Amino acid sequence: MSDTASGAQVSGLTEAAHEPGFRQSVELMFNRAVSVMDLSPGLVEKIRVCNSTYTVRFGVRLRGQIHTFTGYRSVHSEHMEPVKGGIRYALAVDQDEVEALAALMTLKCALVEVPFGGSKGGLCIDPRAWEPHELEQITRRFAYELIKRDLINPAQNVPAPDMGTGEREMAWIADQYARMNTSDINARACVTGKPLEAGGIHGRVEATGRGVQYALREFFRHPRDVGLAHLEGGLSGKRVVVQGLGNVGSHAARFLALEDDVRIVGVAERDGGLWDENGLDIEQVTAWLRQTGGVTGCPVGTYVEDAAALLEAECDILIPAALEGVIHRDNAPRVRAPLIIEAANGPITAAADALLRERGVVIIPDLYANAGGVTVSYFEWVKNLSHIRFGRMQRRAEEARNHLLVNELERLSADKGLGWTLAPDFKTRFLRGADELELVRSGLDDTMRDAYQTMREIWHARAEVPDLRMAAYVTAISRVARSYQTKGL
Ligand code: GLU
Repeated sequence: MSDTASGAQVSGLTEAAHEPGFRQSVELMFNRAVSVMDLSPGLVEKIRVCNSTYTVRFGVRLRGQIHTFTGYRSVHSEHMEPVKGGIRYALAVDQDEVEALAALMTLKCALVEVPFGGSKGGLCIDPRAWEPHELEQITRRFAYELIKRDLINPAQNVPAPDMGTGEREMAWIADQYARMNTSDINARACVTGKPLEAGGIHGRVEATGRGVQYALREFFRHPRDVGLAHLEGGLSGKRVVVQGLGNVGSHAARFLALEDDVRIVGVAERDGGLWDENGLDIEQVTAWLRQTGGVTGCPVGTYVEDAAALLEAECDILIPAALEGVIHRDNAPRVRAPLIIEAANGPITAAADALLRERGVVIIPDLYANAGGVTVSYFEWVKNLSHIRFGRMQRRAEEARNHLLVNELERLSADKGLGWTLAPDFKTRFLRGADELELVRSGLDDTMRDAYQTMREIWHARAEVPDLRMAAYVTAISRVARSYQTKGL
């Protein structure tokens, strides 16, 4: 890999020789893409660096004593505002991780054309160590610190769920913002991933998992791409291993198993894994996980103690859906899946990426594969700003048009004695028009198809762009670059 001007901070590091950290991995992937682009070194540097990271340490009185927590909100690029990205609750959160994730947000948003810059937040905390009322106090205090500095704001910075957070935390944050900004009519748009009652949108919780499903469907629509992964046929019947059954992994696995006839032969979790050649019943596994917090003792499939070994198991598709860096220099040579889809952010290090590419493994990259979450966040934000249910206006118009069409069909049939009738359930569904969930799903599907087409064209047209990750980075970076070039810095 050529070390471009922009690679100064990571020079000396070749992709496969060292095991880079998460932030370095993202930079290496970034540098690899810009080495085939025609951008000035100054602009490359501007796009590469993280604009700012705010660190806050705050105390909360809990269980009779003061506990101090450390949190971050990093803004990677403000070429578009608001900036967007989740808030993660985990003990391993640190500045490097948050900055790497913020950079991925910038590029992800550009790739799927949602009009946001990139940001990310994190709090060093084990959320399972605290009671819900304690977590509420901690979250509200963290939110207060960020709101005061416009690091949560509907026009400037809009968080969302990430690992360790969900609808509940987003509702607390939205309420905290509303209390501190009583005259902001757009207060609800200050955060996405809220519960429906607090201004959320149908389909947001499962959006990232849905996006993974739509990404795989799109990939399998192209026999040439499927062939490059040494696979044959469609998605149906493929044997899949999923690492991490959190919000992303569990939804992706469930949709793929129920709707695409995929066999989930293995799942890996914190405390071990499960295996069944005939396919695991994912609903049962996730129910067990919810109850017990692990897979140990689960009556489904065969228990496997060494969860990491499942990443190396023989299967058609591997879906890492948990943490960054789980496929690294050491285990990459043993990964046997010919196709990996990165449902998590950064699950493959730059070193592993190079090793896997050498072996011809096809990787559907995180920038694309997990963009479903932020895409539906965008729909939620638009819904909040428009103060109307998503699609409400269109639905009336659609219903009126559908009525016209059905009446015309029935009139024609009667006039000509054709005897056509529409099946009653089809007619009811058709006349009803699309509801919010259907609109969200079709909008997401459309987004995933478009982004794949763009990556695919570059991938197959340009010899110096030999894989999908590079195609994703080149697409995203050129869009961010154009944005800076158009509006100035
Ligand atoms: N945390 C999610 C991600 O990594 C969603 C971000 C968002 O919706 O803003 O993409």
